[in-house]
Amino acid sequence: MEKRIEEYDVVIIGGGPAGLTAGIYCGRARLKTLIIEKSLIGGLATYTSEIENYPGYPEGTSGMDLTSDFHKQAKNYGVKFKLTDVRSVEDKGDIKVVETFRTDYHAKCVIVCTGGKPRLTGAIDEDLYLYDKGISFCATCDAAANTDKTVLVVGSGDAAIEEGMFLTKFAKEVIVSIIHDEGIMDCNEIAKNQALNNPKMSFLWNTGVKRYEGDERLHTVVLENIRTKEEVPVTVDSCFLFIGYLPNTDIFENMLDMTAQGYLKVNEHMETNIPGIFAAGDVCDKTIRQVATAVGDGAIAGCSVEKYLAESEVFEKQILNDGKKTLVYLYDGSDAKQREHLSFIEELENDVDVVRVDVYKSKGLARRLHVEQFPTIVIMNNNNVETRIDSISKESVKNYL
Ligand SMILES: Cc1cc2nc3c(=O)[nH]c(=O)nc-3n(C[C@H](O)[C@H](O)[C@H](O)COP(=O)(O)OP(=O)(O)OC[C@H]3O[C@@H](n4cnc5c(N)ncnc54)[C@H](O)[C@@H]3O)c2cc1C
Repeated sequence: MEKRIEEYDVVIIGGGPAGLTAGIYCGRARLKTLIIEKSLIGGLATYTSEIENYPGYPEGTSGMDLTSDFHKQAKNYGVKFKLTDVRSVEDKGDIKVVETFRTDYHAKCVIVCTGGKPRLTGAIDEDLYLYDKGISFCATCDAAANTDKTVLVVGSGDAAIEEGMFLTKFAKEVIVSIIHDEGIMDCNEIAKNQALNNPKMSFLWNTGVKRYEGDERLHTVVLENIRTKEEVPVTVDSCFLFIGYLPNTDIFENMLDMTAQGYLKVNEHMETNIPGIFAAGDVCDKTIRQVATAVGDGAIAGCSVEKYLAESEVFEKQILNDGKKTLVYLYDGSDAKQREHLSFIEELENDVDVVRVDVYKSKGLARRLHVEQFPTIVIMNNNNVETRIDSISKESVKNYL
């Protein structure tokens, strides 16, 4: 089958809060923008009926309502949507090829907003009680709904124990299921000691989840003692699984820099290691994974894309300048000494085309020219760097022209 090809300024992979927000920013900047989502527009947030910590909703809202407003807003700015699975992304320099089953999308920029999924135990009937039916993955989100209730926490890493302690502020009892022998936990020592001394917390050592039971909603988690095989039924109002989170980054292996756990490494501009590929939201290496932080990342990524594309135009038209000899002055505009050179740089305009790049605002163009020290003058000729001058004076520069 012949693949269709469509061209966009930016393709956003993932239609959760991060992707939708990035879309709103790109759409408003009048970039030709496509969001590709493989399942539900709104992402992971659509799984919760109660979002009480997103600003602007004093009575709370549902994830579905909130993200459907994000969706409407993105559409209002001309963002296009495709419901399909992205299979791969190929970096071809100025163009990134985003591959789906029927179509290859050619984009100048890509924003990866693929989020992740909580790791499951795989125990019997787990799928019947996920999310709003009793099995939760987010204490910040669901603690208040468990006020004066009994909850089971599964896991013993930092997230499990710290979130478990947070739950004790609401629940009347927090039971923790841990696979290790008594006293052994995977979390840090401080959290461990605080948890062991917390009167609302109790521990079931050497246990793992065997099956989940309930009717409309979960009411019992049947644990199994992994040594004796004895079943330990625990009656609960909710069960919180903190046994890891799996970022959706398989398709970026060996391409984008990621942590050992598979989270994408980005800088403060949400740039990945590949120019023109950005990432935002839960898929990134970060500490707090919430809607508010995902939309913040999405906003930054959208603005960064706009800046990247504007810089690409300056690079193409002014710096490469049809192969003509061009002097590029890269300086930090916040440094008075570096600004002083601007007057003699202006005089050089009689001899050569001049481009001034203030790196205080963005270092994007400096990165493209592989310049890290400022001020530096780069002489371009025939689309290549002819000379780099870092000891700058009128005379030294004139010699190179
Ligand atoms: C049950 C639950 C309750 C929560 N409650 C709250 C709360 O009360 N408050 C709060 O702030 N946060 C809450 N969260 C966390 C919040 O949902 C996430 O932090 C937020 O959704 C992250 O947004 P995101 O856009 O980064 O990723 P996601 O929402 O995970 O979106 C990623 C999207 O990318 C898509 N995708 C992945 N791979 C591909 C691919 N190859 N091709 C195409 N599409 C792809 C996925 O289908 C998904 O829709 C909750 C989470 C859960 C699970």
